[in-house]
Amino acid sequence: MKSFVWLESARNSLGRFCYTDQMERVYSEHSPIFIHHLKDILEEKGIAAIIKNEFLSGGAGELPPTEVWPELWVVESEDRDAAKKIVHEFIESTKSISKDWLCTVCGEKIEGQFKACWSCGSVHNTG
Ligand SMILES: [Zn+2]
Repeated sequence: MKSFVWLESARNSLGRFCYTDQMERVYSEHSPIFIHHLKDILEEKGIAAIIKNEFLSGGAGELPPTEVWPELWVVESEDRDAAKKIVHEFIESTKSISKDWLCTVCGEKIEGQFKACWSCGSVHNTG
């Protein structure tokens, strides 16, 4: 049921925005879930975004999924730079989850998958 709602809303968006030449592609990614998440983030920031190619990849099986990745587009070209920045920052933030960090209390180097310092027990603040 949820995917049906997604499909309907995306179809409405496409119908409304399909023919504007103001649209700019921001990002392409093989995971529709990730693209949807990015779209939600952009819309939280007040940037209108749509997803293209979403239904080409999984459907009839005529196209190899890797050849048609879902694409995230902004509706207004003036939003492109801001949108790209937001997307970039989000991707960086997902990467930094697994990055090593230094405990601010005792200075111990901790592997990224741990949320707290194994030495003194202080919780890592990702800020
Ligand atoms: Zn520590």
